[in-house]
Amino acid sequence: MKEELLKKLQTKIMGRSVYYFECTDSTNIQAALAAKNGARHGAVFVAEKQTAGKGRRGRTWESPAGKNLYFSLLLKPDFAPDKAAMLTLVMAVSVARALALEDVRIKWPNDLVINGKKICGILTEMSLEQNCIEHVVIGVGINVREQEFDPELVDKATSIEAECGQVLSKELLLAEILKSFEELYEIFQKTCDLSALQAEYEELLVNKDREVCVLDPKGEYRGIARGINATGELLVEREEGALETVYAGEVSVRGIYGYV
Ligand code: ATP
Repeated sequence: MKEELLKKLQTKIMGRSVYYFECTDSTNIQAALAAKNGARHGAVFVAEKQTAGKGRRGRTWESPAGKNLYFSLLLKPDFAPDKAAMLTLVMAVSVARALALEDVRIKWPNDLVINGKKICGILTEMSLEQNCIEHVVIGVGINVREQEFDPELVDKATSIEAECGQVLSKELLLAEILKSFEELYEIFQKTCDLSALQAEYEELLVNKDREVCVLDPKGEYRGIARGINATGELLVEREEGALETVYAGEVSVRGIYGYV
């Protein structure tokens, strides 16, 4: 896969070095380790299989061998740590652009869905030193060709091939994602917010103008998702008219009848 990928890369920075694993625990873990050992901004870590793929808040990402794409991108930015969470949304738009499939939508903040089921998850992790970013790792798992999922995932997981019948090359897809991300990261860096990407993100947002249930550990509530603000928080209009600003940190959002 590595040679194929290197042939297809058209980027200057993202993917400037590629670390390839037949099988690893988690590409996010490997990227963080390599970062401490001098791996550079823009390095990419790709695996055919992960034995401990990560989801948000300690959850796992099922990563069987062969059919799917699992990678992490290492960044060493010089902006403030509170900006890093927005990179999840930048990556979500990059993946959607690269896929260029009509039915792809984003479920705020970090999942891509087709027909209401998840095809991609994104996990951004950061390491700090004295309140400055040491590195950021953006992990991406995409169900490219998987047809069989664990029973507990069947209702909410699917793959690109299962939904669209499209047979994609993993190398080409990764090369396209890195190209899109390189373009969007440059735009993001100018303002360190999502002002230039907000409209595109909202176009893709599956939750927009739909009733959602906000699973906030301080108390669940329902409302209509209206979009995002320039820092990537979800704007939810409650029944009585108040507009809540939902920060992704501890919160999940669900549709009222299911996953979206
Ligand atoms: P949230 O809305 O909080 O992001 P989430 O369920 O989407 O909720 P994530 O942390 O984004 O959570 O992803 C991890 C979850 O995704 C797992 O708990 C599991 O339910 C689901 N999952 C795990 N592996 C896969 C996969 N290969 N494809 C689709 N979904 C998966």
